Amino acid sequence: MLSWEIVEHGKPLQKSLRETPKPQGTEVLMRITRSGVCHSDLHIWDGYFDLGGGKRFYVKDRGCVPPFTPGHEPFGVVEALGPRAKGVRAGQKKLIYPWIGCGKCAVCKAGQDNYCVSGSRFLGVNRPGAYSTHVLVPDPKYLLDTAGIDDAFAATLACSAVTAYSAANKLPKLNKGDAVAVLGCGGLGLIGMLAGYAYLTHFDPFYHVAFVYGDISDGRAVPTRLHRANLILDVFGGAKAVRRTLERFKAEGRGVLVMLRDGAAGVPVVAIPKADETASGEARSRQWREVGLGAQILKDLGVSSIRLLSFSRQMTYVGLSGFGIEIVSTEPVEV
Ligand SMILES: [Zn+2]
Ligand SMILES: [Zn+2]
Repeated sequence: MLSWEIVEHGKPLQKSLRETPKPQGTEVLMRITRSGVCHSDLHIWDGYFDLGGGKRFYVKDRGCVPPFTPGHEPFGVVEALGPRAKGVRAGQKKLIYPWIGCGKCAVCKAGQDNYCVSGSRFLGVNRPGAYSTHVLVPDPKYLLDTAGIDDAFAATLACSAVTAYSAANKLPKLNKGDAVAVLGCGGLGLIGMLAGYAYLTHFDPFYHVAFVYGDISDGRAVPTRLHRANLILDVFGGAKAVRRTLERFKAEGRGVLVMLRDGAAGVPVVAIPKADETASGEARSRQWREVGLGAQILKDLGVSSIRLLSFSRQMTYVGLSGFGIEIVSTEPVEV
């Protein structure tokens, strides 16, 4: 395989030809088709991060010692599988999650590899990265489906978009009229700003997010989309449904996108609507829960009536009026 390696910090990358690794066990060999260039790559190339006040953080202290291949925003095609690698097939396009941990410690076992301190194997940091024709991934679980998202944009999602998303989720409770300043218009800032500003509700133990575009202060006939959040598929503009919603808001001059986090508790105890007779009980209670949460957030935003943007004919949200939100119209949106 061909790789572009840092052989000396601050010096041009060197092209090197090495043997293409053969996947063992659960490993997957990916052929790289897209690779984001992150600003962190430039610091890694320098050999240090400038912490200000003359302080530096040297990447060699994290085991990042030349020669090595940078690149932690990889996207590619499954090329070969180890004998125990399950769940993916050769030829599938996948986003590669780069923050790979030791796989053995408590945080790794809980699926939080990015917190691993007992032997992290971050691609492009501790392991050969994506400035290469191939990358070896320890397990198929680090490969994510991004169908519907442009490959080049998808490559950046597991670094810059996840960072902006998790920062937005750490915001304290905000009140109506509060503003959130996003500093910097780089890769993270632009993703964070795409939909205007974030509003968080305390309705659940964790946060749901609503993006308000334009002026909705009259609260009447506001174009609204209730959306079940999917971190990787959605991250602010990546998924088609979200992108279409934002385009619609732009055309209309305003709108509210409510992103409901999965696993929410707190279903209001109200009779389940009859309109959805054929759906399973689980699907019905899930829809009902979304209706309740969505209505609560909309009310907190001062919205009293909406034009519901709908992507699916099955989703009727008939219960919204029971929570004091009038649906002026339901408008299909082509995806
Ligand atoms: Zn990055
Ligand atoms: Zn670990």
